Amino acid sequence: MSESNQAFIVISGARENNLKNVSLRIPKRKITIFTGVSGSGKSSIVFDTIAAESTRLLNENFSMFVRNFLPRYPQPDTDAIENLSMAVIVDQKRLGGGSHSTMGTITDISPILRLLFSRIGQPAIGGANMFSFNDPQGMCPECNGLGRRLGVDMSKAVDKSRSLNEGAILLPDYAVNSFDWTMIVQSGSFDPDKKLSDYSDEELEQLLYGKARKVEVEFAGKPINITVEGIIEKFTNKYIKRDVKTMSERTQRAVAPYITEGPCSSCRGARLSAAALNCRIQGRNIAELSSMEVGELIRVVREIGDPVAAPIVKALTERLQHLVDIGLDYLTLDRETDTLSGGESQRVKMVKHLSGSLVDVTYIFDEPSVGLHPRDVHRLNGLLQKLRDKGNTVIVVEHDPDVIKVADHIVDVGPYAGSRGGTIVYEGSFEGLLESGTLTGTHMKRPLQLKPVGRQPSGKLSIKDAQLHNLQNVSVDIPTGVLTVVTGVAGSGKSTLINEVFLSQHPDAIVIDQSAIGVSTRSNPATYTGIMDDVRKAFASANKVSPGLFSFNSKGACDNCQGLGVVYADLAFLDSVKLPCEVCGGRRFKEEVLAYKLNGKSIAEVLEMTVEQALEFFELKEVVRKLQAMSDVGLNYITLGQPLSTLSGGECQRIKLASELHKKGSIYVMDEPTTGLHMSDIGHLLEIMNRIVDAGNTVIVIEHNLEVISHADWIIDMGPDGGSKGGQVVFEGTPSQIIHAELSITGKYLR
Ligand code: ADP
Ligand code: ADP
Ligand code: ZN
Ligand code: ZN
Repeated sequence: MSESNQAFIVISGARENNLKNVSLRIPKRKITIFTGVSGSGKSSIVFDTIAAESTRLLNENFSMFVRNFLPRYPQPDTDAIENLSMAVIVDQKRLGGGSHSTMGTITDISPILRLLFSRIGQPAIGGANMFSFNDPQGMCPECNGLGRRLGVDMSKAVDKSRSLNEGAILLPDYAVNSFDWTMIVQSGSFDPDKKLSDYSDEELEQLLYGKARKVEVEFAGKPINITVEGIIEKFTNKYIKRDVKTMSERTQRAVAPYITEGPCSSCRGARLSAAALNCRIQGRNIAELSSMEVGELIRVVREIGDPVAAPIVKALTERLQHLVDIGLDYLTLDRETDTLSGGESQRVKMVKHLSGSLVDVTYIFDEPSVGLHPRDVHRLNGLLQKLRDKGNTVIVVEHDPDVIKVADHIVDVGPYAGSRGGTIVYEGSFEGLLESGTLTGTHMKRPLQLKPVGRQPSGKLSIKDAQLHNLQNVSVDIPTGVLTVVTGVAGSGKSTLINEVFLSQHPDAIVIDQSAIGVSTRSNPATYTGIMDDVRKAFASANKVSPGLFSFNSKGACDNCQGLGVVYADLAFLDSVKLPCEVCGGRRFKEEVLAYKLNGKSIAEVLEMTVEQALEFFELKEVVRKLQAMSDVGLNYITLGQPLSTLSGGECQRIKLASELHKKGSIYVMDEPTTGLHMSDIGHLLEIMNRIVDAGNTVIVIEHNLEVISHADWIIDMGPDGGSKGGQVVFEGTPSQIIHAELSITGKYLR
């Protein structure tokens, strides 16, 4: 290897997926950005080749014995990869982890805060574990550190505008004239004709929470001695305090609607023991600090002057500053990680690495700008540069022009998607890209065009006094029959307003998000869109056999792999290993089924077709319509049989969009539909959204992309900032108005 090559990761002859013998050099200790239309092959190079090889090499470091237990990572299809350092993939997979995983625990900030309390808290009560809700010594004994407990949903349990005789008790078991209802009415304590709203406080307390007491009542004409107790008390003992598993499924279903989760009454949601909550620094306990927004918390921590704590304070502020730098200052340490969005999750993971001391690592990011307003993108850029300056190689797949600008080196993959892509169309500097004539270069140079005149709304949907999370009594009208874009900096309240408040009032809306689709490993674009049913029928009638034969879920399936095309070798304690089926060679069907042809192609060959190829092959009206919808959303390049589990979030979102395209009179809600889309595909997406609107639907889109914003009929801009400094509507109007709105940060960027 030549001396100069040491400074590069060198890839020769890469052929994963659609790659056409790609060779390239990626400068080490620099930022390299991969761009290109979706499906061009960026992930095939970055994830399936570079990251895959790094993982495989890592495993080779283990002894033969240990390796026997590890999944066998196949060598990526390349001639050679040289000079690779350890790769860390920082992706958008959401941080799961349940309620015991919070922003503070995942960033390792909480342990430092606990240490601080154990050293200088007044009065300190012992070691750092006394302040941990994950430790039996620190957790609230009532809720076991969960901060929440189940209770009765009062709004569903009683209707105070009615009397007992009018059926005021809505809980199951208390229908008028039922046994339990009769006992309450006959107990003599309550006037059955008085509305509950007219009860005195004592009467209500007695009805709801009264302690069990013996009374003599009459039932079915006979006097009996029974115990009556408050209806909420009884329900709680009978259904909530009991192990759900001991109840029949029917009972569980019947009582579930009346049960809701609320804050623990003992710790009031703080999760910690009373001793821990009594320990304070400058008048605040650890739960109060953890529920403060990071931007505020860092100021409080900086004021701690105790010299004993100096090194701890330093470590704490350094990490908190990273969160501020990356634009997460609106989050709190006690925020549960499974409530973070994909983009937020990726930035939180990034912070973890910034505080680490690893050097000469190859960091790989997947569209880190997701969820970031143009205002926040420069912060992200700063962090990428910081990682580089620590001596790491940074590789980023990205479409956002403002991120692409900071690259030391750009690799443009294309020219198009699938088989029409898979080559490198440009390598070099940003200035060079602009003059390269590639799709990316050309689009980067195009100026933004504001939509001149919007469509007229047909009506409006109102949100009134919304207060969830950071929303500050938001009342806003969303026009119907037009395209509305909801925008604003990260944390300003867009998702809360639309995905939570609005959708809770409009459950009939069609939500097109980026969550994974296809619960089963057997789902693919053909089964998801319904094309497979028509294809099976076509094969059946052409060959005069049953359609069931052409399903890899039933009769026609390869016996060895049950139609999966792969077999899973189960390992005791690791993810199982996936190996191609030896019998069918991954084609999923029995040999005899593959002998049946439709216009010369077997069912397996049809499933290997891309959408584009299938459009040429099929003439069936229904199939063509569904294929055309997929083509319209820019998915020409995916094959009909590609497992849905291999699709990216953006691709999943577009496949959902394709299968919902033909509805009328509906409300569509989309969350950052430009994710994963190259600039040249955005025009296409806009066309589709316009078509949906023109067919008589209402489209509401959460988006930061300036091109989409500038094409809206109506813009709702949230802000002014994130977290407690946001939660207001700062602008409502058209694109040509927003550029004159002084308060709107979005308007500033559109100008
Ligand atoms: P990009 O990252 O540029 O969007 P990809 O590298 O994901 O593009 O995809 C390049 C091509 O390879 C596409 O045609 C895609 O459908 C195909 N492809 C990607 N992953 C797989 C897979 N696991 N199985 C089959 N085809 C795949
Ligand atoms: P945006 O969509 O504009 O990025 P969000 O609606 O996600 O903003 O967040 C608005 C505010 O609400 C932020 O301060 C955020 O931390 C808070 N928030 C969002 N989701 C939750 C949640 N599940 N629990 C607690 N706070 C939340
Ligand atoms: Zn508690
Ligand atoms: Zn098989």
